[in-house]
Amino acid sequence: MEEKKKNFMDKLEDAEVVLVGIGEEFGETVEETSIQLDFEKFLEKISQQKNLAWLPPYIRMLKIKYSKAEQTMKAYGILEKLLENKDYFIVSTRKDDRIYDSGLRSDRIVTPCGGYRLTQCMHGCQSQVYQVNQVLLKEIEECLKGIRQPDTLYCPRCPVCGEPLIFNNIEAEAYVEAGYQKQWENYTSWLQRTLNRRLCVLELGVGMSYPTVIRWPFERIVFLNQKSNLVRVHSKLYQLTEEIQERGYKINENPLDFLINRFV
Ligand SMILES: [Zn+2]
Repeated sequence: MEEKKKNFMDKLEDAEVVLVGIGEEFGETVEETSIQLDFEKFLEKISQQKNLAWLPPYIRMLKIKYSKAEQTMKAYGILEKLLENKDYFIVSTRKDDRIYDSGLRSDRIVTPCGGYRLTQCMHGCQSQVYQVNQVLLKEIEECLKGIRQPDTLYCPRCPVCGEPLIFNNIEAEAYVEAGYQKQWENYTSWLQRTLNRRLCVLELGVGMSYPTVIRWPFERIVFLNQKSNLVRVHSKLYQLTEEIQERGYKINENPLDFLINRFV
């Protein structure tokens, strides 16, 4: 295993371009929040109020915002160091947006499953996305703190049809892909520039939830580029297809443990 690591480090060191995939396993197993608020109790309290059916996603968003995510942020910090001075691009299927709080370059990140940074109409009107209302977030926080009543909150609504605005992520029934489209185009043109260059592909905790976004295309990229290598890190799904065995490293480990334990 140590030998493998050395090889992988050499490949990364030697690479002209680095493609990173981040998936389901790249997160805390137990979430602790940095603020003394009972999110679950609040969710239960409003669960019976039909006029507040739009509110729970906001509560979940605030819970993510206030969670410590120490391991995750530590792992992002290590990744940042590994990619320093490299021409890199990161594709992540995570929806927690934590990567944008790290020092990794946001112009080199694409999150096609969306997250909580934008909103959209629940019906996807005009494929429009909107900024999240920051005043509303503050008001919701006041409700969580018990200094404001939830029924004084106004649901943000679509300017076209008047239905509620929801978060722009893949859980939306009519997901508006415009939220990540421009960055996806940047990613694909970057990818074209990796052809015939020494490419290191690093896959961190990518399982089978959205295999068409990272896992399968990455395998194909490695298959087509003879100068590439794939480092696949996953606690269970670390296997490699036969075509790329020779240029692949399979690492049977949780991606956070992998970064934290091996590269500190
Ligand atoms: Zn609408």
